[in-house]
Amino acid sequence: MTKVESRVIYNRVALIGLGLIASSMALAMRAQGLAGEIVGHAKSAETRAVALELGLCDRVCATAAEAVAGADLVVLAVPVGAMEAIAAEIGPHLAPGATVTDVGSVKQAVIAAVAPHVPAGVHFIPGHPMAGTEYSGPRAGFATLYQNRWWLLTPDAATDAAALARLRSLLEAIGAKVDTMDAAHHDLVLAVVSHTPHLIAYTMVGVADHLAQVSNSEVIQYSATGFRDFTRIAASDPTMWRDVFLTNKDAVLDILGRFAEELFVLQRAIRMGDGEHLFDYFTRTRAIRRGIIEAGQDTSAPDFGRGAASKAGR
Ligand code: NAP
Repeated sequence: MTKVESRVIYNRVALIGLGLIASSMALAMRAQGLAGEIVGHAKSAETRAVALELGLCDRVCATAAEAVAGADLVVLAVPVGAMEAIAAEIGPHLAPGATVTDVGSVKQAVIAAVAPHVPAGVHFIPGHPMAGTEYSGPRAGFATLYQNRWWLLTPDAATDAAALARLRSLLEAIGAKVDTMDAAHHDLVLAVVSHTPHLIAYTMVGVADHLAQVSNSEVIQYSATGFRDFTRIAASDPTMWRDVFLTNKDAVLDILGRFAEELFVLQRAIRMGDGEHLFDYFTRTRAIRRGIIEAGQDTSAPDFGRGAASKAGR
């Protein structure tokens, strides 16, 4: 047995959905021989063909039901809104003792959609890799996407400890730092750190687009880091983000309400010329940014560490 084979953690991994997240998993698993066989399914024949061409999967199947047969790990890597139909389709075909996980950006809605279709004897462990880019599809993946990134799992009290430990070992082997939390708490945290910021970015880019006094060419020519970063975020996949806002509605509305209140306070400070308020506020937020860098979740480089992604041609 070769050294690579000795690292096999799952004998057959079925990837349902073959976009950025699944293709990055496939490349990372392949790099270390963590899966005996990788079987894939995506909605379109085109994506399935690309996945074979890129060597992401050993086999692709025309249906999700065929793809999960005999798999000891099934990863649901489709948009959140597609999870329920997929779960209903694969439920009767899951192997006893298999683990099903998902990578959806929202957890409570995915659990409500998937759990009823998972038969007894199959372990469902919801998950969410906190890693991504604004690119989509099977060609967008790269093996190092999960390096040093958090992968949150939201097991419950009934989750099988051995199945959880095995999944954790796979995710850690592809470079992720794994943490567990309650699904409702996950959705609130993500509303703060990801979902609402995306909505704000979409809004700011929309505002610039609607401003008649500032031409599009000026926006493009003079965009400095702030706006440029907004445009990068606002280029994210529309299907994925529509589903996020439709399914994490309560938490996002809560955080948006708080955001609007703070915005009004800052708006008033600007109108009243209250420089002290603005200075103190920006000093507090700067400390948060320093904390993120110290925690290793970003770099202090002026391009926010994204040079590597652009150098890779994405
Ligand atoms: P993506 O690149 O757009 O890929 C989505 C994949 O799902 C495609 O292969 C697509 O197939 C397939 N798909 C869609 N509907 C399907 C259906 N009904 N049946 C079978 N396959 C279907 O998306 P992604 O970025 O990998 O995101 C996948 C999941 O990861 C989402 O739930 C998202 O919330 C989550 N996530 C994303 C990020 C991120 O930054 N992108 C980060 C963390 C978590 P076709 O190509 O044939 O349409």
